[in-house]
Amino acid sequence: MNRTLAILKPDCLEKKIQGKVIQQIIDAGFTIKGMRLIKLTPESAQKFYEVHKERPFYSALVEYMTSGPVIPMALEKENAVADYRKLIGATNPEKADEGTIRKLYADSIERNIVHGSDSDENAAKEIAHFFNESDIV
Ligand code: ADP
Ligand code: MG
Repeated sequence: MNRTLAILKPDCLEKKIQGKVIQQIIDAGFTIKGMRLIKLTPESAQKFYEVHKERPFYSALVEYMTSGPVIPMALEKENAVADYRKLIGATNPEKADEGTIRKLYADSIERNIVHGSDSDENAAKEIAHFFNESDIV
């Protein structure tokens, strides 16, 4: 089994589709092993997206991610990282495959509903950003 870190972003909760998105994730075979409802502080969002700190969209991204509550989830499945990224679709919803979460619900490359880890190594780091190992069921 492998793990990945998902986040339902502020636009997901604003649109009140968190229930639908969670159901789609469960229907795709993922098990939720950890789940929280939180509002990110700027410091926490900056740290989470540190790899992007030189990118032109970094400050807007931090502002967006702190604009409302988010739901981080530790997910488990075989091949979790790749399978979850397939389920959510490309970063830019215009380029995302039909039926993916971002294609279905996202408004833009920034406001794209969900986060997904991009490697097993980053998944472990990102899960640790939000969860103690003792929080994982
Ligand atoms: P992903 O979330 O698909 O792994 P990235 O790691 O490249 O994508 O980017 C992190 C997040 O930053 C994206 O999900 C999106 O919210 C935002 N983002 C990425 N690229 C852009 C961009 N060109 N303009 C604005 N926001 C962006
Ligand atoms: Mg990424």
